[in-house]
Amino acid sequence: MKRKPKPPGYASRVLDAAESALASGTIRRGQVAHAIVAHDDWCDLLAGRGPCNCNPDVRVQADPPTHRATHESN
Ligand SMILES: [Zn+2]
Repeated sequence: MKRKPKPPGYASRVLDAAESALASGTIRRGQVAHAIVAHDDWCDLLAGRGPCNCNPDVRVQADPPTHRATHESN
């Protein structure tokens, strides 16, 4: 009996992180946010051998404010 292939492990983690970030108010819907996925050194994804097989650290944060080009006196 075949099972459907699971999505990459970190994909669901990113979604979880995004949901919790939304819940905690870290990000808002419609806002640009970054998902930072920190893979382990030995992860197959980093080595280019295949899909992620580690348990990456996933953080979601709001888009950092852009550095505006202000006229600074120098
Ligand atoms: Zn990985």
